[in-house]
Amino acid sequence: MKAVVKVKRGKNNIEIHEVEKPLCQDNEVLINIKAIGVCGTDYHIYTDEYDTVPPLIIGHEFSGVIAEVGKNVKGFNVGERVISELSVQSCGVCRYCKTGNPQICLDKKAPGTHINGVYTEYINMPAALVHKISDNISFEEAAVIEPAAIVAHSLLQRTKIEPEDFVVVIGPGPIGLLAIQMAKIQGARKVAIVGTDIDKDSRLKIAEGLGCDYIINASAEDPADIIYELTEGLGADVVVECSGSTPGINSGINMLRKQGRMCVIGIPGPEKIHIEWKKAVIKALNIVCTFSSSPLSWNWVISMLDRKALNLDSIISHKEPLERYEYIFEEISKGNVIKAVLLP
Ligand SMILES: [Zn+2]
Ligand SMILES: [Zn+2]
Repeated sequence: MKAVVKVKRGKNNIEIHEVEKPLCQDNEVLINIKAIGVCGTDYHIYTDEYDTVPPLIIGHEFSGVIAEVGKNVKGFNVGERVISELSVQSCGVCRYCKTGNPQICLDKKAPGTHINGVYTEYINMPAALVHKISDNISFEEAAVIEPAAIVAHSLLQRTKIEPEDFVVVIGPGPIGLLAIQMAKIQGARKVAIVGTDIDKDSRLKIAEGLGCDYIINASAEDPADIIYELTEGLGADVVVECSGSTPGINSGINMLRKQGRMCVIGIPGPEKIHIEWKKAVIKALNIVCTFSSSPLSWNWVISMLDRKALNLDSIISHKEPLERYEYIFEEISKGNVIKAVLLP
């Protein structure tokens, strides 16, 4: 089968290779991959800013159809449409695994970063991680469930958005656009998005289409001023920080009310950043940093998609054959991509 392989460290060094189709072990299912989500992590493997041990098939967001069922596996059949969580080789016995958080198990090895991933035609996954999806959900949407599960875990499980919260999302990338939808589903009173000039004609327009109540361009106006005006001087109940930038994080601290909650999803770059910590302490903020997604959040997102509460098509800006991965990475470097899906 064809696979997109990071062959050695250094910028790019990614090639299409002919590789062996993986074998289906007794507790696994073999999945014929139908759609692949292109994640920021894949791009950072391409630019070599992400630590990997090549050679490695890249990619971790995907959907497909069961091609083979291991002999110990019950409840799955060939031909069923599926997706899979990524906590492959989590130990099952540590504190994190035993409390429903295998995604942060110290032994976890995930496809596309530690072990062979999904930019190919087939992958074998432990049946315990696999979820069936209904015909209501397209393969393209299903390939984007992983980032949606990150947002569900961060907003609904960790930060616990409450009904009537005034929520501000900072950073209108795919995670931010999903956060708008998730806050609405949970009954937020109003949702505002903060972007900059470069988002004006694309991402902020999509946010508007998703029913976001207030669109704020931080290049033209001070987001904190606007939020105080909209909340009668109180400040936001919740800020979802998706930018990972110093101005984004500090603006979030500034616009929150006392005892407000900050949900931190955006990952900053390698440079040290200056955070207005004193302001956060004096306002008694709850700052919740989140990473990856729990098994429960996958169940939630599948259900939301099934009943059409969540619109993942809205964030997919590109669909291309798998061979066009390099074109997509180039488009990402120019800032033209919201979310891309590759088709093997
Ligand atoms: Zn991802
Ligand atoms: Zn563990």
